[in-house]
Amino acid sequence: MTPEEFRRLRDNRTQSCERIDDYQSASVAIIAGKCAETEDGQMMIITASSLFARFCHKIDVLVPDAICLLRPYGKGKQLHEVIRKEVLSADPWAELGLGEQLQSNHTYVLQIGGTVTGNLIPDFSIDSNGWVACASQGAVNFNCNHSISNLVGAAQAAIIGVTDGFKVATSQPGKARVSRAHFSTFYCRLLDDTHDEAPALATGMPISLGNLFVVGAGAVGSNILHFLKFFPISDTSVTVIDHDTVDYSNLNRCLAFGYNDVGISKSAATATMLSDCGVSATAFTGRFDQYMECHKLDADIIVPVANEYQVRWAIQNNLPPLMLQASTGRAWTVNVGRHIPVRDFCLSCSFPEVSDAHMACGSGTISDSPDKEADAALPFVSPWAAILVVAELAKLQFAGYPFSKSRLSVETYGPLHTVEHFQGQKLQSCICAGMSEALFHKIRGKTRFADLSFSPTSVGHH
Ligand SMILES: [Zn+2]
Repeated sequence: MTPEEFRRLRDNRTQSCERIDDYQSASVAIIAGKCAETEDGQMMIITASSLFARFCHKIDVLVPDAICLLRPYGKGKQLHEVIRKEVLSADPWAELGLGEQLQSNHTYVLQIGGTVTGNLIPDFSIDSNGWVACASQGAVNFNCNHSISNLVGAAQAAIIGVTDGFKVATSQPGKARVSRAHFSTFYCRLLDDTHDEAPALATGMPISLGNLFVVGAGAVGSNILHFLKFFPISDTSVTVIDHDTVDYSNLNRCLAFGYNDVGISKSAATATMLSDCGVSATAFTGRFDQYMECHKLDADIIVPVANEYQVRWAIQNNLPPLMLQASTGRAWTVNVGRHIPVRDFCLSCSFPEVSDAHMACGSGTISDSPDKEADAALPFVSPWAAILVVAELAKLQFAGYPFSKSRLSVETYGPLHTVEHFQGQKLQSCICAGMSEALFHKIRGKTRFADLSFSPTSVGHH
């Protein structure tokens, strides 16, 4: 295979999505200084490098080397070694300048974690402050504090940065870009400054989820599992259900998958990835209905992110426990839904206009919108959806959950002024209308997060 063949196979989803020109020849620089020694900084650098490598192959990562602090890479690894591994896994033919500039005349320069001295002028700056992702055009120092790391905010910041880089590389108009934004992944809203009042997700604080089912290890699901592996997951058993295998066209947006994963089972690849990071994980290679033929739905949380509508409907028919999900709607849109049984709208309420006869297409997701531009295959949209689900999983550890309304819609095309955050509506005709507190208690009352269903003021369980 030649690099051109590889990129043609990988990028056909991106190119079918938008009127997009020759972005693959864009060259990108990532610059960072002292923050490369922090967990947050490393999360931003590695996430941005890996995500950029999924649509452009000329990348200079001009950051100091340091000991890598992030869990998945094990002890004693160097940051540069990890960046090289991630970039070349995404694109084995990438032209990577690591610590030294290989390219000239960069299309885009992304500054991470505050002012970097040097001769490159940043087009855009990102940083993270706890749960808050900070982003701005130009060279901006947000003065963020990384003494307590929060990899959710850091990953979100990196995704916003790469999203902006994609817009520049594809010559989107200025109004499509973020000028300045501070987004709290805890409260799911935009802030006036870089600080929110959210409790700290202390470094090393275990995230305990019980039996977590991820139904669908496609674009959103695999990225959820990818981001989860960075956290100290304890007292958790993950079950990944997916019938599909990794394809070249998945590599444009699935951070969990690399060139060497093509052809293998998505559920096996992601479960192995988690196991390698010390997380108990089991793969089921098959469809959800096939799983249900031979298993009980022994889940504390379900993350239903399979493409096909029938799967969502089948899950809802099994009277599930707490569910957290995200989907990519029209090409640039991210939708996140939280479904606390009894209290919230359900999965079927949330996809009402799609009939159960509707077949899923290729690798896309069923859109919330009637216009069927459902192949939301832009590189950054699925990771964006995924990190917001991971934010919910992390937030579950805090008393007082939930801290936001049940639906969130983010339009990533534009200045990020339109984060819609609202309560999902129950449909009277939906199967969830028959779910009472008493019935839920009988069926799912012993699940880890069942308390959430019983009273609007119910607080955490730890
Ligand atoms: Zn419903």
